[in-house]
Amino acid sequence: MEFGVRQADSAPSLFSAAIEHRRALVLGGSSEARALATRIAADPRLDGVISLAGRTSAPIAHDLPVRVGGFGGVEGLTRYLVEERISHVIDATHPFAARISVNARAACAVAGTPLLVLTRPPWICAQGDHWIDVDDNTAAARALGAAPRRVFLAIGRQGVADFRVAPQHDYLLRVIEPPQAADLPPSCEVIFGRGPFALEDEIALLRDRRIEIVVTKNSGGALAYAKIEAARTLGLDVVMIARPASADAATTHSIDAAMAFLAS
Ligand code: NAP
Repeated sequence: MEFGVRQADSAPSLFSAAIEHRRALVLGGSSEARALATRIAADPRLDGVISLAGRTSAPIAHDLPVRVGGFGGVEGLTRYLVEERISHVIDATHPFAARISVNARAACAVAGTPLLVLTRPPWICAQGDHWIDVDDNTAAARALGAAPRRVFLAIGRQGVADFRVAPQHDYLLRVIEPPQAADLPPSCEVIFGRGPFALEDEIALLRDRRIEIVVTKNSGGALAYAKIEAARTLGLDVVMIARPASADAATTHSIDAAMAFLAS
């Protein structure tokens, strides 16, 4: 279900009415969550907290108070919603963070808390792209083929162990946080970087490292898109890993719509 922006004639009356208690929980870990936090923080009628899983040791600053760490499954999240008197939940986690989204759906149903998913649209294969669409990491490793290739693994550190079944390739893995050494395929160089990445830098990286094929998740959004354009420019194949099935919840790509939801 798509949560649309409210009609101009109905939104102001709703939003300017006395808002008794609006305390949003933003499930974060994405650029959309940060942008929404900034909008909520700037609105004196709203109160909110942003939640991070705690995967990165130096998270980017947010404009709302931040809580860090898992809630303890559906039960823990339900308890948090009640104890913290959360009136609305916005699940703005990364599209590949499937577990927390399923938990949010279940916890909001139990607590009776309205939920909106704020996510970015997936990338669409454009003219000049050579994509090999796969469902998951295991299929991506298989799609690299039997012959050794130089592979740019742009999937983050989670799931890199799935490529150990294809040890014949030379991997270049880009991460924000160091991976576990035991997770790496035998021939794997690790480089560090956090988006946004510039197109010319991505082209230079792929060219200098003589990359033959790119593996990426279909995260969507602008921050990480340059590698797709770089692969297109260089005529490289891209193994594109599809998003996991999403929780059945009202969804939007628009921060304005998320703000309207908070007034609903
Ligand atoms: P996941 O598999 O969906 O979640 C695993 C567990 O981590 C959840 O059950 C929950 O623990 C905890 N958790 C996840 N997100 C949380 C949040 N925002 N606040 C509090 N607890 C959270 O998630 P993941 O794929 O490991 O991703 C972790 C975080 O990194 C997400 O918040 C996501 O937005 C961000 N991220 C993920 C990716 C990716 O590719 N997966 C990429 C960029 C950023 P409890 O059950 O104990 O509550």
